[in-house]
Amino acid sequence: MVNSGMFKTTLAAVACALATLARADFDPANFDRAVKPQDDFYRFADGGWIKRTEIPPDRALWAAFDVLRDANLENLRVLCERATAQNDQSSAGEQKVSDFYASGMDAGAAEAAGATPLQFEFDRIEALHSPADVLAELAHLNGLGVPAGFIFGCSPDLHDSNMELAEVDQAGLGLPDRDYYFRSDEKSKKLRVDYVAHISRMLQLLGESPEMAQAGSEAVMKLETTLAQASLTLVQLRDPLASYHKLNLSEAAAIYPGLNWRAYFAKAEAPAFVSFNLAHPVFFRAFSDALARTPLADWQAYLRWQFLHAYAPYLSEGFVNANFQFFGAELTGAKKLKPRWKRVVATVDGCIGEALGELYVANFFAPETKGRALKLVADVRAALRDRLEHLEWMDGPTRAQALAKLDTLVVKIGGPDHWRDYSSLIINRGPFVLNVLKSNAFEARRQLKKIGWPVDRSEWDMSPPTVNAYYRPDRNEIVFPAGVFQPPFFNPQWDDAVNYGAIGQVIGHEMTHGFDDQGRRFDAQGNLTDWWTAESAVRFKARAAAIVKQFSAYRAFPDLPLNGELTQGENIADLGGVKIAYAALERDLGSAPRESIGGYTPEQRFFISSASVWAVRFRPEALRLQVQTNPHAPGEFRCNGPLSNLPEFAAAFHVPEGAPMRRPAAERVDIW
Ligand SMILES: [Zn+2]
Repeated sequence: MVNSGMFKTTLAAVACALATLARADFDPANFDRAVKPQDDFYRFADGGWIKRTEIPPDRALWAAFDVLRDANLENLRVLCERATAQNDQSSAGEQKVSDFYASGMDAGAAEAAGATPLQFEFDRIEALHSPADVLAELAHLNGLGVPAGFIFGCSPDLHDSNMELAEVDQAGLGLPDRDYYFRSDEKSKKLRVDYVAHISRMLQLLGESPEMAQAGSEAVMKLETTLAQASLTLVQLRDPLASYHKLNLSEAAAIYPGLNWRAYFAKAEAPAFVSFNLAHPVFFRAFSDALARTPLADWQAYLRWQFLHAYAPYLSEGFVNANFQFFGAELTGAKKLKPRWKRVVATVDGCIGEALGELYVANFFAPETKGRALKLVADVRAALRDRLEHLEWMDGPTRAQALAKLDTLVVKIGGPDHWRDYSSLIINRGPFVLNVLKSNAFEARRQLKKIGWPVDRSEWDMSPPTVNAYYRPDRNEIVFPAGVFQPPFFNPQWDDAVNYGAIGQVIGHEMTHGFDDQGRRFDAQGNLTDWWTAESAVRFKARAAAIVKQFSAYRAFPDLPLNGELTQGENIADLGGVKIAYAALERDLGSAPRESIGGYTPEQRFFISSASVWAVRFRPEALRLQVQTNPHAPGEFRCNGPLSNLPEFAAAFHVPEGAPMRRPAAERVDIW
């Protein structure tokens, strides 16, 4: 919803493996024995799965992750329905979950209401008279979670990670990224034409005449293109300093005479503050110009569009389907809208995730699992410590700092110790869209209230049922929600080799983020501080550059190479994650005899398990979208890329020199 963790790096917005949630570890039917491990390990380990797996019609891609995510949604539905069936809910959280879910499932009410529940917001936009009014309305919409124009929130100060700093940041685009406004190939040109047609269709659904909607959609495209032109690229955004420009209010007033920041912050009802982070000066110069020069009617069309776009998924079918047609079908290739209950459960999770999450942890996360998870994390941490102590390319002073950072790393597992207090948020039986709106307003207010206060390091950025994990450099923490401790990532009944290959690899991945191209620039306390000696920094950068080169050489389509710069942090974490998890397994096994199970040694089972986590099938549109916007490489490359660098893998599968899965020694990258 509202912006969170600017540098949060996750395991996978899209990733993925195993076909079922059965107790069995990996299924030999997932293999393709016609492919040799040494030629293409991804297709050897996952080829059978890839061949027999159909992407469900309501999906843009499908992976084992998604099998688990779907099963998890079923669990959440049970919790929602149980809460709804109870007449006297036992907690305030259950009442909110129950009413939110019931309002979402009331398709008849949504149909009858159309967009009328939001009419009071459209009336506000209609009543604007001046650029000052537009700026005030932007503050209002930001407070409803709508990223129109730019976003205003707060984030730990990069140079004082204990304090929350107010922050304004580039935003305001409807397409997935600024580059979508400028690519000159035919596909991209068509997408822009269709985007304008989509905006026009949506405005007509609101009741505008075709002529008015057409003019409005063209104005929106023009304004968004202006903002996109001044926006940093995804690769530029990887540099934390590129988004850090702290200044005080009087300096800001002098630099942007056309932008009345004080009026904006007052309208946003932000607490008083002296200085803030104006993340992207070039963007705000362009925004300031646009505010002064763009006709009021164009701004009104833009604000109507941005607001409607944010809330269309919660309105009647006409809006929901039109929104799906462009953002689901055309952009990702999905064939069908997800069933209503899945959309509703995901919305409840997204809006009041800690109310639903509290029920989820109580019902679906065993205390033994937490204990086992903590042990796995401790083992992987010990393996990384061992590596840091022995890295030949890192000098003594840098090593000491790196070890201190690892020892300070905070680990969070399952869910928060203290659940979020939603008592000031009123949720009732409908309309659904207003429950979403009130939740977004609650979250925006909650964020702004933090400004100027010490950072609450106990907070979570993901809800407990989430099947994912993250590292936050500004807190030096790794976080694993309860949802991820299930197959295909973890099963207490699997042998260690399989658990280390799957969840162990994920743990190693997140830990290594503290030392990737972004994470390494933050110290143990989460401050942006350069703790590297010049020599060690040069050696690290040479290794990172080699990873960039390796991944830039992969192609998703003949006309679309991977973006090695954009994906370098995740690729470094994947390489480090699998290597460290393997080292943890070897430490555990020690000198014990290596007993084969199902014909495979523990080392082989480790790598098969690790590959199984990446099996995924994409629709072409979704693969293109992923490569153009996502910092994670597609699964095939997340598997073969790191493993082709690992002598441990070559040894486990007897990969001969010269084989595709064994890079020549001179090209191999070894970082952590
Ligand atoms: Zn990651």
